[in-house]
Amino acid sequence: MLTRTQVSAAQKRAAAFIREAGLPVSAQEESLIDIVDFGLSHHEEEGIQVLTWFATERQAAKVLVLFPNQTEPEHWHPPVGKDPGKEEIIRGIRGQVRFYVPGPDTFRTGFVPPGKEDVYVCRHEVLVGPGEQLILAPGTKHWFQAGPEGAVFFSFSTCVRDGLDGFTDPAIVRQTVIVED
Ligand code: ZN
Repeated sequence: MLTRTQVSAAQKRAAAFIREAGLPVSAQEESLIDIVDFGLSHHEEEGIQVLTWFATERQAAKVLVLFPNQTEPEHWHPPVGKDPGKEEIIRGIRGQVRFYVPGPDTFRTGFVPPGKEDVYVCRHEVLVGPGEQLILAPGTKHWFQAGPEGAVFFSFSTCVRDGLDGFTDPAIVRQTVIVED
């Protein structure tokens, strides 16, 4: 749960990150930036900011912002009907993002949010900096995190159905509840 004041402040801050990365954000787009707390109510630790440029039935382009040391919880995009699930291409714009996917343990740079070892199980580290990219095949488990400068990066993908995503942490609720204050 987030208050409207928290959401507005986070939208402003996320828009500033995106502009510093060299991408335009209109005032209207700023008000549409999704502030996601995954129902955990501490979005600056576990959360993400999402500016969706477009999302049709077939493809989507988003600009993702992580504030300094912010972590997006471990999740995967499951198959839906004949669709094998979202294929996602990440491309770094500003700052470095630490991605964690299945594979040999190469965990070095990041940290697991305190007390959450059993709900962040991927330990194979892939660092994505500006101009670098990573392709996540449908169904691949992943979580990611920014370093002390924060990060701005693209997510290009096939059809988005965020509401159906699976999360390792059973405490997560994908839809952020906003209360007016
Ligand atoms: Zn994802």
